[in-house]
Amino acid sequence: MPDLSHLRAHLDLIFPDEDLLSPLKPADKDKLMELYVLYQQGLGKPNPEWIAEGLSEDAQEAILKAYGEVSETGRLAVLRASLKNLAKVCPYCGFGEVRDLDHHLQKKIYKCFSIFPLNLVPSCSKCNGHKPRKPRKKSTHQHINAYLEDLSFCEFFVADIDISGGAVLATFKIEKQKGMSDETLQRLKQHLKDFKLYERYPSQVNIFLASQQVALDDNFRAGGAEGVKAFLMRSAAANVKSLGINDWRGALFVGLAKNDEFCDGGFYKALGFPPP
Ligand SMILES: [Zn+2]
Repeated sequence: MPDLSHLRAHLDLIFPDEDLLSPLKPADKDKLMELYVLYQQGLGKPNPEWIAEGLSEDAQEAILKAYGEVSETGRLAVLRASLKNLAKVCPYCGFGEVRDLDHHLQKKIYKCFSIFPLNLVPSCSKCNGHKPRKPRKKSTHQHINAYLEDLSFCEFFVADIDISGGAVLATFKIEKQKGMSDETLQRLKQHLKDFKLYERYPSQVNIFLASQQVALDDNFRAGGAEGVKAFLMRSAAANVKSLGINDWRGALFVGLAKNDEFCDGGFYKALGFPPP
């Protein structure tokens, strides 16, 4: 979670009260702070009322413009740096380098949240680029706010593995779990579609599995298929600790462990390196 203790200070820095020409007056800042609370309470789900409520068009434009200060050389550069430090990798795809700040609610439409930390998600440039330009109207298509919606209560991300074609084909999918609403299930599926993860995972899987060759070989030599399975499940558990319960690498490890052919030496051919 971002530090939310400087929200008013950020506004005062960009829009000083003593500046009589400032487009954001103290009363506007009060209103904006109220909107911030509503955003947090509403888990960042789009609410068109927030666009029209209380702030003039000029004030909203000024807040949008203030996002320019959240650049590396802007007056809110510290905010940018602290947000980017929150994520090891892009939280949308789980592998991209964090370079951008994505506006969870698009800033061209929800101008009032242009510099609100809970609306600024550190992300890779590809995910940021794939993001739709407008928030979805249908609740089943709306994006999950990376800060406000904790989905770690169940393991929903799984990978089916097929090596019959001579290479590892990993098909990732969302599985409905106990306690998960239909709406959340649909939103997670939409996430995979919108960020084009079905197309982007295969090359990541190949790169990642190439780094596992030596460990797979060692474990097969020492313990056969059971040794490989145990190694994969240990790796899955370690991955949960470092990257969370629904990271794609964890799902991949579990999927591979369930594939008997892969574990029983099939990985040599599927990963393209010679057996002992
Ligand atoms: Zn990404």
